[in-house]
Amino acid sequence: MSEAIVTGVSPDLLSVVRTYWGFDSLRPLQAEAMTGIASHRDTIVVLPTGGGKSLCYQAPAMVMPGVAVVITPLLSLMKDQVDALTQCGIPAACLNSMQSSGERSTVMRELQEGKLKLLYVAPERLTTNGFGRMLPQLDVSFFAIDEAHCISSWGHEFRPDYRRLSSLRELCPKAGIHAFTATATQRVRADIAEHLSLRNPAIHVGPFDRPNLTYRVERKSKRWAQICSVIERHKDESGIIYCISRKNVEDLAVSLREVGYKALPYHAGLEDDERQRNQDAFLREEVDIIVATVAFGMGIDKSNVRYVLHANAPKSVENYQQEAGRAGRDGLPAECVLLWGPGDFRTWRRILDGLPPEAAPAAMKKLNQMSRFCESMGCRHRALVNYFGQSLDNGNCQACDVCLGDAEPVPDAQIVAQKILSCVVRLGEGHGEGYISRVLTGSEDEQIAQHGHDKLSTYAILAENDRRSVRDWITQLKGAGFLAFDNTDQGLRVTDSGWQVLRDQIHAHLVNPRRAAGRIVTRKTVAAPGLETELFDELRALRRLLADQRGVPAFVIFADTSLLDMARRRPGSLETFRHVHGVGDRKCSEFGPSFVECIAAWCRHKGVPTDPVAERAAPAVVKIPPQPVTSAAELIAHKLFAHRRSLDDVGEHVSRARSTVVRYLENYLRRNARTTPEPWVDAALFAKIKRSVERVGGERLRPLFDDLDGAADYDQLRIALACLTPESMDQTAGG
Ligand code: ADP
Repeated sequence: MSEAIVTGVSPDLLSVVRTYWGFDSLRPLQAEAMTGIASHRDTIVVLPTGGGKSLCYQAPAMVMPGVAVVITPLLSLMKDQVDALTQCGIPAACLNSMQSSGERSTVMRELQEGKLKLLYVAPERLTTNGFGRMLPQLDVSFFAIDEAHCISSWGHEFRPDYRRLSSLRELCPKAGIHAFTATATQRVRADIAEHLSLRNPAIHVGPFDRPNLTYRVERKSKRWAQICSVIERHKDESGIIYCISRKNVEDLAVSLREVGYKALPYHAGLEDDERQRNQDAFLREEVDIIVATVAFGMGIDKSNVRYVLHANAPKSVENYQQEAGRAGRDGLPAECVLLWGPGDFRTWRRILDGLPPEAAPAAMKKLNQMSRFCESMGCRHRALVNYFGQSLDNGNCQACDVCLGDAEPVPDAQIVAQKILSCVVRLGEGHGEGYISRVLTGSEDEQIAQHGHDKLSTYAILAENDRRSVRDWITQLKGAGFLAFDNTDQGLRVTDSGWQVLRDQIHAHLVNPRRAAGRIVTRKTVAAPGLETELFDELRALRRLLADQRGVPAFVIFADTSLLDMARRRPGSLETFRHVHGVGDRKCSEFGPSFVECIAAWCRHKGVPTDPVAERAAPAVVKIPPQPVTSAAELIAHKLFAHRRSLDDVGEHVSRARSTVVRYLENYLRRNARTTPEPWVDAALFAKIKRSVERVGGERLRPLFDDLDGAADYDQLRIALACLTPESMDQTAGG
């Protein structure tokens, strides 16, 4: 998430953000949302999970007179939010049915005495007698409605309780009403505005993309091995694994524990207190992994979940975005892996068949969109962002299996695609993926012979390939829309765009998913040298201790981003500790002494200085290993690059899109260990990019792009980065 100081927001707001939260900058849209709230205009704010919605209303609550009432659906989330605010020194409380009547009376009294700036309540509280009567007498600065999509029956999580919120306007006509959600289509937005009687609301829709998340979508082949390889990539880090059924959850949690992973189950079938205990153990980092059904998640606010693994496909892209979005809320790199198989969709269809007739068609449509998302082999970031009606530049996102090259392009994909499509045409359509792949690979199946399909010209036309790959390619052609499933005759047919591939009017792209998990490159949270990792682990242990003493989750004390910044800066005094990201006045005085002492002791033990001046605060560049050259096109491209030919020239020669040619060039530069990107990026621009990498790090493109203010486009950034290594950066920093 790129963060930038925003000048349009009032100095009061910026000052409270610095003093209480210790953040020096605002994220996209936060300034607009805060300014809107402070100027009493109703608003709808749509920002992805982790986008920083809470700060949008928490900061204005601190500068406006009165108390801001936050409506949020889940009790556990409420408590964490209040704990987190209290640790920052902000007077906040909640009212809910889990409190004793004594606790509730204390909160009511504090409210009446005007001592609170933020009050969290569940929607059902609004209609309880005591609270409903008291509300009009309070000095309410505004209402913030979290998870506002729950008000709309068009959303994917309609909650009848939310309809009670329509009474807010009458209860407190002067208070502004502000709705926050991570997913809202135009229809849902209109519904929110109508049910809450919003007055000419300002609508802020933020960028949906989450550049810190690396998406991987894999067809299930060896499920257990696939799951373990994800966990191994994130040893000792927090992760959520989603399954469809309770039984899957239980079985997987047991199997993981049997091989020594710290994992607990979470689903609606567990007793309330066991479920709560398991959730708390995860939040407090006593276990690393929670295996859950979708029942888990809405009520948690843990910012350092480093991976979300779907062991089955979810039922809609909305669900996927929301569940996967629980990874990396702190803005640090995190991974989202989706394992899917056709069986998942069959299970969902059975479940959705039980829905009332008016709801079933929309749910089925969403399920089909999810299945297309899994099947296609385009950039995952782009597919998600497009689904929500936004667009992304055409370059390589560097953060999904497709763009990172986990999957290798199939040489001569166009010809392979044409062979498959003609086979579907010759078979007379109406056959499934399994049958078509058997015909294409020349199976001696009786059924094929009986139908005379072994006499077709396309029989055995892909015999040199293994059947699983051919099946994968058929799935990909379906995902790309060249084949479609025809309900009438229960089989695949060639679509209009498929016919265009057959006529060579459109180019098809196919890949071979890499089956060796070992080759996957992950962006580590701590990309820097060993020392930082060691200190980071030390600081994590201290954080856990402090959290346990206070009975709050670890992330309430400090986010991983703050610990990481501490590990880099090694502050040796409270003065320098205050400069750490996420350290406000209150946290500095409360936790500063313990952390500074811990850092100083560690530095003495290691013989390194505190507050090292010369060290860069920005993360180092990531070392991406060169890839083998597998296609003829790339081989030719490399030869042309050796003759310093331009990107356009090479693109024309090998008939590949610019993004592919840039990828070839990156690999060429890495394979030849080139340290300058000329002639593709000139020396002056390269020097500028290098300086920017020193400032903001080279892990993600977006911060670099923003930092350079448009001086370099994404392709130039990629090419320049391919010439930078941690070693070459160190030389620059040293000299
Ligand atoms: P959302 O509600 O949109 O899912 P949160 O409000 O939980 O997101 O914020 C996600 C994380 O980002 C939290 O750890 C929060 O402290 C952090 N955050 C929010 N705004 C900023 C900012 N301006 N600078 C740094 N971190 C921020």
